[in-house]
Amino acid sequence: MSSTGPDLSAFSLAGKRILVTGANTGIGQGIAVSVARAGGTVVGVGRSAMDETAERIEAAGGHFEAVRCDLADSTAAQAMLDRVWHDSGSLDGLVNNAGIIRRADAVELTEADWDDVIDVNLKTVFMLSQGFARNVLAEPGRRGKIVNIASVLSFQGGIRVASYTASKHGVLGITRLLACEWAQKGINVNAVAPGYIETNNTEALRADPDRSASILARIPAGRWGRPEDIGDAAAFLLAPASDYMHGAVVPVDGGWLAR
Ligand code: NDP
Repeated sequence: MSSTGPDLSAFSLAGKRILVTGANTGIGQGIAVSVARAGGTVVGVGRSAMDETAERIEAAGGHFEAVRCDLADSTAAQAMLDRVWHDSGSLDGLVNNAGIIRRADAVELTEADWDDVIDVNLKTVFMLSQGFARNVLAEPGRRGKIVNIASVLSFQGGIRVASYTASKHGVLGITRLLACEWAQKGINVNAVAPGYIETNNTEALRADPDRSASILARIPAGRWGRPEDIGDAAAFLLAPASDYMHGAVVPVDGGWLAR
């Protein structure tokens, strides 16, 4: 350590612009705040107002830009990324966080609930990654980092979440494929696999005392995760410290998968 304190530059996102999907709430908001705390500028994308995220980032002394886009339309999502890149400034990172879940027995799941989940959670993740990579590759020497938000259900089956589990297994697959295709092109592709995190997504589970108790009893850390737990892992995967990581999937689950 020097007399001026530790050198944390490997963990800094100063001067970096990071696009985070679904930044208005939950894990996306946690990622946005962690990126801002590491010095990055956040371009938050979503359907809803992002005032709360903007306030939290401002309070952390960071910079935030909000962009409205319905990510169910993957072509529109890719066009949005191009617009951001060319109109308001190039990007150094992309975090594919936005996601939805539909709970139903597999025999009851509708085709619409299958399609909706696959479109947002998987197809748009690929299309945004492709759009990001095309822009990075168009500028010789440029580098970029993609972080996909997977799930413990990228590794397990689960119950009553068929389309979600399929989408998250798919996210794992494209994370690994794109990591291999782009590793020598200056683009790192990695993923974070959250466990059970306190967000709107899990509100119904937490409200059910029996379900909530059985989930908690299986988490070695003995608590639900917080959005910032995921945010800090994502910030690491966006920073220079993780430059040699390609195709890694980092569980942030209180030990759920280790059990
Ligand atoms: P939330 O439901 O709290 O937030 C989901 C986010 O995705 C919101 O910002 C939402 O925006 C956005 N979003 C959904 N659909 C669209 C769309 N069509 N267009 C634009 N934005 C959209 O969920 P979480 O924060 O819990 O989940 C975030 C990610 O983490 C998801 O990929 C999820 O699968 C994953 N995950 C979550 C876990 C958990 O325990 N919470 C566990 C494992 C993975 P809007 O409000 O505008 O709809």
